[in-house]
Amino acid sequence: MSSVRLVTIANQKGGVGKTTSAVNLAAALADNGKKVLVIDLDPQGNASTAVGAVHTSGTKSSYEVLLGDCTAEETLQGSGNLFCIPATIDLAGAEIEMVSLVRREFRLYDALHNGFLEKHGFDYVFIDCPPSLGLLTINAMTCAEEVIIPIQCEYYALEGVGQLLGNINMIREHLNHELHISAILLTMYDARTKLAEQVAMEVRNQFGAVVLGNVIPRSIRVSEAPGFGKTVVDYDPSSTGARAYVAAAVELDKRGDYVPHPTTGAIGVSPEIYAELEG
Ligand code: ATP
Ligand code: MG
Repeated sequence: MSSVRLVTIANQKGGVGKTTSAVNLAAALADNGKKVLVIDLDPQGNASTAVGAVHTSGTKSSYEVLLGDCTAEETLQGSGNLFCIPATIDLAGAEIEMVSLVRREFRLYDALHNGFLEKHGFDYVFIDCPPSLGLLTINAMTCAEEVIIPIQCEYYALEGVGQLLGNINMIREHLNHELHISAILLTMYDARTKLAEQVAMEVRNQFGAVVLGNVIPRSIRVSEAPGFGKTVVDYDPSSTGARAYVAAAVELDKRGDYVPHPTTGAIGVSPEIYAELEG
């Protein structure tokens, strides 16, 4: 018996590989026989592009779902095992438009938890967030149980992570008791540089076992794929980037949800480390 795993991909730092990770983990799991839904909550619509979903302005999308103007069902695109609720540029105004709506933090939750997920029997839902901690990201986090944080193996990798952890804690406390970090994924790892190795080591030291063993290398194929409306997993399955995402997806699937440490807090990070990151 399996139930759906609802996963938000978040990091308010831009360009760290959120979208790339969301769509490629999704595509890899779909290729492995899982039924997967990608929800694009970023007005940039990059996840929609990468899975080949139509997302011109006016297309029924996450924007209409959040505003309550249409059902999730009406926005669903895709076939086989991989589906998408796209985002259009219309979403850019949503954060402001949602402020005055009832249950503004739970608009996505309410739109999905009404029989829609059960009806389709999804195994995974990945929600791609914009690089901010606003109402769109909050809607993703009240909806999901798991958060995956991609961390780019570059300078300032941990910049803002303390604030992100603080927000996750706040949402867990006040809006969604189930929310926790289920994985940290190291992205754009360049094996030729000492820096990438140092960042990876630092992240593993700080976060421990919640960090996935598989690391995503920097690979030109990964950045080319969206130009073809494809994930790298489908565009060039034999590339190092694609193989790394498949391996990370298998790891995520096999180990299941990350079980938090019973005494040090829900994500396996000690309070001292929170304090250090925050300070
Ligand atoms: P944003 O904050 O703008 O939403 P993001 O966190 O979603 O960004 P991506 O769009 O996934 O980040 O990636 C940023 C850029 O880096 C993109 O151009 C993407 O193609 C490229 N990129 C991501 N992962 C890799 C990789 N492993 N190797 C090479 N390029 C990559
Ligand atoms: Mg993105």
